[in-house]
Amino acid sequence: MSVAPFSIEETRGQEVALSYLSYFAKFPDKLPGVLIFHGPDGVGKWHAAERFARHLLCLRGTSCGDCESCRLFMRGLHPDYIQFPRNKNIAIGKEKDPDEFTVRWLLYHKIPFKPHTSHKRIVLFPESQRINHEAETTLLKTLEEPPSHTLFILLVNDLNLLKKTIVSRSLAIPFHYLNQSAIREIRSHVSFEGRKFFGGSLNPFEFDQDIIDEWLGTIREHAFDSLLLLKLENWVRERMADKKSFKEVLSTIDFLDLFSLLLLYVYREKDFDLYAKHIQAILEFKSKLHSQIPAIEYFLISKLFSQLASYTH
Ligand SMILES: [Zn+2]
Repeated sequence: MSVAPFSIEETRGQEVALSYLSYFAKFPDKLPGVLIFHGPDGVGKWHAAERFARHLLCLRGTSCGDCESCRLFMRGLHPDYIQFPRNKNIAIGKEKDPDEFTVRWLLYHKIPFKPHTSHKRIVLFPESQRINHEAETTLLKTLEEPPSHTLFILLVNDLNLLKKTIVSRSLAIPFHYLNQSAIREIRSHVSFEGRKFFGGSLNPFEFDQDIIDEWLGTIREHAFDSLLLLKLENWVRERMADKKSFKEVLSTIDFLDLFSLLLLYVYREKDFDLYAKHIQAILEFKSKLHSQIPAIEYFLISKLFSQLASYTH
């Protein structure tokens, strides 16, 4: 496995989040306009967002530490990095001369202008549940169609605290509780093995771990051959049709969400660079899964598997 461009300590144990962020660091043109990092407090969302921002803004695309962007960023003076304050409610702001760090200030005085130093502007809301209702409504239109030069990153501990229309237009990246042994291992700087953190990071629905392990085994066996991928597609469809297999705990969309996380994990664990196209197809699948169009999941599954099969020899 190749080394991720910003394998920061805080993102250790966050396999899924790291898959997304390494992918977008490598292919920034694939970034959607809004990313939501969601998960409990204290598991590294904010650090990951900050490091990711620095990486994207870097003029060399490497977090070099040396270019104008990196130097401004490290001094907290980057004009294209707008981080809203923590511990403070975000208000809509006055129509005329809105105060700094209000939504109207952002929309009138920042968003319409091109970035100064870097190719992109990044707007971070460290506690997006603190954007008040009126401000959120005003922001909505921009979040639905952000200008191409601006990336919004919203951090939140519970996705349900954001408007559904925002969530459905964004890519939501999960961060999870780390188990104690993962935390101990991170602290002792023992070399990182993704598998050890598997239980803590790949099971967002607290679903039966034995079944997940079994599914993971099935996916590993089928993911690397185009004919076996067809079998895997049938396996997924059978599970969706079988009312008893997981329906009491998971909705069909949850199941597909979980399935795509496992698939992502399997390709990433094998070879991130070699399977970059597969990973991209899964991320696209995952981002459209929550679009709330009835029965779209059947269409998305066909599309995903035909893409995966065409990239696999
Ligand atoms: Zn740099």
